[in-house]
Amino acid sequence: MSNKEYFKKFKSSKSKVLASLVSNGSASRKTLAAELGLTRAFLTKLTTKMLDEDLILTGPEMNEGKVGRKQIMLNVNSNKGYFLGIHIGVDHISIRCSKFNLEIVGLKRIDFNTLTDIEVDKAINFISEQCEIHNVHHFLAVSLLVRGSVINNQATNISVHNVKDRFEEKLHQEVFLINNIVALSAALDFEDKTGSDYILVKYGPGIGSLVISNSSILKKQNGEPVEIGHIQIDPNSETKCEICHKNGCLEAEIGFPNLIKIASNGEVTSSDFTVLEQYLDKNESLFKNAISTLTIFMSEAYDIFDPDMIFLAGEPFNNPKYRQWVYQAMHDNNLSLPTDKLLFIEHYIEISSKASIIYAFEQYLNNL
Ligand SMILES: [Zn+2]
Repeated sequence: MSNKEYFKKFKSSKSKVLASLVSNGSASRKTLAAELGLTRAFLTKLTTKMLDEDLILTGPEMNEGKVGRKQIMLNVNSNKGYFLGIHIGVDHISIRCSKFNLEIVGLKRIDFNTLTDIEVDKAINFISEQCEIHNVHHFLAVSLLVRGSVINNQATNISVHNVKDRFEEKLHQEVFLINNIVALSAALDFEDKTGSDYILVKYGPGIGSLVISNSSILKKQNGEPVEIGHIQIDPNSETKCEICHKNGCLEAEIGFPNLIKIASNGEVTSSDFTVLEQYLDKNESLFKNAISTLTIFMSEAYDIFDPDMIFLAGEPFNNPKYRQWVYQAMHDNNLSLPTDKLLFIEHYIEISSKASIIYAFEQYLNNL
């Protein structure tokens, strides 16, 4: 996505200016006007108002390019307020508190086997501590990222169903509940200006995916994003999916929990990739076949949706060996997905760790 495409997702010009200053760093009015497609006169008026509102600050005069006059640089006012991002993963909660410029000032990880009220209470305690340390009474926005379905503002696949209500009661403010892949895509757009037509696939522990068409998330009738992870690939399978409740969906078949179960002859229950890797020395073909299956379905999604790009993220693909298996599957199966249309997200862990805060920031901008 060129920068201009990215900023289109925000309605108000004020949001566009803030999105630019936070994602690209300080800039002059001249640069901002050009980047956002606004006139200099309008931008001058707007930034004067934003200076009055303490949203932005003026910095030193600088030469931006090689030629031309010195320009006054504008920055976001990092002390304007705080964002809170809560991410409930498969085995832990991570909570991040950031300043207005998204710099992280508080971070906590709470591990669990099954999420219960105890971990939610621990998370709430940490949030209380952050409020005290930073003297915060109200966050600019709060996000809550979860796995699986979000239907009617409820996290249906999280064992503590009322988790959003619990946080809202504590914070006395709205909490934006969202599927983790949707937030990951927001983070990718923010960091890399990804594009307006792409498919995002995340492998591990399940299969998260999202189809972005014309800069919007493609959705089903019930409002859930269209995805490939729960396509039923083997109706005769006895493996039932906890999320879609179908037998033999893609996630149930090749998700890490099922692969670990197969590799350990049913003795080990885990969703951790490092656990799976321990078995791969003796049973490499198990994972190779899983990657091949995933690649076939990515290629089919490519045929159906015709995106500009497929982005593949996930812990396994930090290892060049497993990236190579994807290419091998494309070649061996003579798949229609061209190699140059598939891109691995190599800094996936770094991007995904920022997703909750970036999503909170975007919700704030949408409501400005
Ligand atoms: Zn499923």
